[in-house]
Amino acid sequence: MKRFAYMLLIIAVLLSACGKSGEKGGNNGSDKKLEGHLISEKPKELTIFAIHLGKALNTEMPVYKKAAEMTNIKLKNVASQNQTDQKEAYNLLVSSGELPDIVAYEFTEDLEGLGIDGGLIPLEDLVEKYAPNIKKFWEENPRYKQDAVAADGHIYMIPNYNDYFNLKTTQGYYIRKDWLKKLNLQEPKTVDELYNVLVAFRDKDPNGNGKKDEIPMFLRGNITRKIMMGLTDIFKARAVWYDDKGTPQFGPAQQEYKEAMIQLAKWYKEGLIDKEVFTRGMNSRDYMLSNNLGGFTNDWFSSTGSYNEKLASKIPGFDFSSILPPEYKGNKMTAFVRPTYIGGWGITSAAKNPVELIKYFDFWYSPEGRRLWNFGIEGEDYKMVDGKPVFTDKILKDPEGKNPLATIRATGAQYRLGMFQDANAEKQLSGQNDAVDMYIKANVIADDLPVLKYTREEAKEFLKIDTQLRRYTEEMTQKWILGVSDVEKDWDNYIKRLNEIGLKKSEEIQKTAYARFMKK
Ligand code: CA
Repeated sequence: MKRFAYMLLIIAVLLSACGKSGEKGGNNGSDKKLEGHLISEKPKELTIFAIHLGKALNTEMPVYKKAAEMTNIKLKNVASQNQTDQKEAYNLLVSSGELPDIVAYEFTEDLEGLGIDGGLIPLEDLVEKYAPNIKKFWEENPRYKQDAVAADGHIYMIPNYNDYFNLKTTQGYYIRKDWLKKLNLQEPKTVDELYNVLVAFRDKDPNGNGKKDEIPMFLRGNITRKIMMGLTDIFKARAVWYDDKGTPQFGPAQQEYKEAMIQLAKWYKEGLIDKEVFTRGMNSRDYMLSNNLGGFTNDWFSSTGSYNEKLASKIPGFDFSSILPPEYKGNKMTAFVRPTYIGGWGITSAAKNPVELIKYFDFWYSPEGRRLWNFGIEGEDYKMVDGKPVFTDKILKDPEGKNPLATIRATGAQYRLGMFQDANAEKQLSGQNDAVDMYIKANVIADDLPVLKYTREEAKEFLKIDTQLRRYTEEMTQKWILGVSDVEKDWDNYIKRLNEIGLKKSEEIQKTAYARFMKK
């Protein structure tokens, strides 16, 4: 890391030089005022590291070409198109010490760690001087600025923000409404009512094939934790760390968790929950719905809502639609909430001209830049209607049936770097406005614990404890729900074991990190 420290010194000198010229013209030594979004008088190429969803950023995609036209900044990805493993490529990059101008990365704790070690430069002064759009965005949304501040108080990355306040929810409850109608049942408003509905799904042959083959409740997930979250959400317990009115708590150590385990073991034993719930994997939803077997789930709005159209001709009357979270003991909330951001990008200590780079970052927060990143190219991917961007049929009705999100992503739009999502774009792409709005209006989405920032020491210790806590709670949760072991018998020993692993210490670290976050 010596090398970084040295680079940092050089950067500090460069920065002060840039600052001076910036006061004159703001364009890196040039006194000319540049037009529009131009950042450099002549086209320039800057290097970036970026891999998202197994794909290295292709800077030849229309969105980045258009941005290059508008700003005169062209990006060149140092990750090759053959590199698909983001973590592996990132570790290789950092250990090589040969950093590009920009690093974009999904795992922001590592990105900020790189900053604290001197590999990324602090951005707060640069934003103040050269990034009016980001500055305004943060002033309007203080929470978004809090998210950008590292444990040492500096800002090393501009996060890739979700349009959190307009799209707080990620997933919700879905039920076969045609089965409810057929069995003459009401939409369940409470968990007690839900129980009765699931029993009826199990016993009264709503799919009408004369067999008792219905699976009242199913879930989809490739990791145990996802399934745990779906199951415990019904009984308002938490499978992860959560914000308990200002105190971070570990869900599986709480009394509500024990209670949820008792109920879930009962439901499982009675055949209300898919027998293979922990092992069926990511195809479970497709299997359960297209075979006319599953009755109730919790899953993503955008993709779950599309089954009604898909299965309309195959299963007459098929209606799998959203309902609000059934109330349990007066609590009507769901814990499924979108994080405020995922990933981000920063400027490295190797960058020769940080001012140009921060201006490039800022471009994406201008109204034009933000639209470009969310909606693609005007005239092709979207049109302005009454002053608002609306996707064209090219995106919404792909002749080969590709889903709209995949189609817009092929233009380079919505590639995770360090931009700000527009809820309006996602709503148009998913076609699920109503379900999302219903949840937001009913105010049933619990606030999430922010992504907490740790010092290097805290991070190391917390990760060590948390990994063991997860492993142990996952193991026990499955045993309890599947009926291999009895939660009421096990509970005291279970808590004892959590404490031996270091529960108290991890709670302290979380508390410290939380207080630090709130103080920013
Ligand atoms: Ca049946």
